[in-house]
Amino acid sequence: MSKAVQPIRGMNDILPESTATWQWVEAAARAVFAAYGYRELRVPLVERTELFSRSIGEVTDIVEKEMYSFTDRNGDHLSLRPEATASCVRAAISNGLIHNQQQRLWYAGPMFRYERPQKGRYRQFHQIGAEALGFAGPDIDAELILMSARLWRVLGLEGLQLELNSLGTTESRRAYRELLVEYFNDHRAALDEDSLRRLGQNPLRILDSKNPQMQAVVAGAPVITDHLDSESAEHYAQLRAALEAAGVAYRVNPRLVRGLDYYSRTVFEWLTDRLGAQAAVCSGGRYDTLVEQLGGRPTPAIGWALGMERLVELVAGLAPPPAAPHAYLVPLGTEPHALALAEALRDRVPGLRLQVHCGGGSLKSAMKKADRSGAELALILGAEELAADGIVVKPLRSAAEQEVVTRGVLVERLAQGVAPGRG
Ligand code: ATP
Ligand code: MG
Repeated sequence: MSKAVQPIRGMNDILPESTATWQWVEAAARAVFAAYGYRELRVPLVERTELFSRSIGEVTDIVEKEMYSFTDRNGDHLSLRPEATASCVRAAISNGLIHNQQQRLWYAGPMFRYERPQKGRYRQFHQIGAEALGFAGPDIDAELILMSARLWRVLGLEGLQLELNSLGTTESRRAYRELLVEYFNDHRAALDEDSLRRLGQNPLRILDSKNPQMQAVVAGAPVITDHLDSESAEHYAQLRAALEAAGVAYRVNPRLVRGLDYYSRTVFEWLTDRLGAQAAVCSGGRYDTLVEQLGGRPTPAIGWALGMERLVELVAGLAPPPAAPHAYLVPLGTEPHALALAEALRDRVPGLRLQVHCGGGSLKSAMKKADRSGAELALILGAEELAADGIVVKPLRSAAEQEVVTRGVLVERLAQGVAPGRG
């Protein structure tokens, strides 16, 4: 045997035993998006590297050290997408979607970041996200947050904590930035290497440091919400009022800056205490300058993205069990007829989940598989039944006797089993 090809570190196979939970979460998200008028946008996995360096920011973890970038045969510099907001904005500009229009959009799919793999942090991971383009007011900020809160409710997920902050505008941030540089300059000795480098280029990033030794110096830094422009302060107050009116609890966290450069005003995160250091389940914020930054007309916008691996981990115990087949059909030397019968049954009984025993073997081993499939009924088709247009129906989950029935009765029995409220 030759040596098995190894999977890539941090890139996981999602196995059939968990895809049922994934599909359940995805279906819930799709239903919630539909309930708010958000429509799906599908964007490529690969974009020009420039799209991400211009949006996420040159001096961020993602662009500095986490991107999967390569040069294609044409010499173009491309990257696997580390997130999809930039791609959505690019797509909206490329396709004229925000030309005198607003858009409520959602997307789902894999993202790629070269991070240190650990529980809840992978190199290929999946996000579901929502973006509202062309809306300036705090009402849409509240709508997006309410929509995420509804998704947690639909999934039965409790205990997530919403944290909220406002970053003000680019202009108000400039003044704050100066104060921050002054403060961190006074505390240079306490800064790690990354932070010293960022001090000159992107001092706000220091607030986002994950280094525990930096926590004390970060805690003493000036607070951004003390330096908001009056319009941003008003926007923030209105958002909080809307959340309160809707009964959504939140905690203000003036240190929340998020790991990407494009945010302005509202930023938020939904946090869990059940996944260790990987606390953020869903994060988002307003990005009023991004569209212009990427070559579009000035268009206010806001969005969020949730991490599927983290969410699935949290709701795994809440998902309904995967659906077993209604029936398991065992041919006894009648394979071609059994397959044809199975086709006819699937035609006549919409929603029927019917598994056909393939590969022959003894009746005993076939019945073992029937039992393991979780099916309610075994259907056994021998030559004798075939000749008489009948079939053996054997209940697998009750003490009821097996019986020989006609095809017509079989269809009725199966239709009853598939009807809502049953199996
Ligand atoms: P973190 O602080 O955990 O690194 P982030 O701020 O980098 O998260 P975003 O870029 O805002 O995360 O992505 C949105 C969501 O995607 C996060 O809240 C998280 O649930 C999920 N996520 C981000 N990076 C990863 C990863 N490497 N593996 C799994 N999920 C991730
Ligand atoms: Mg990160």
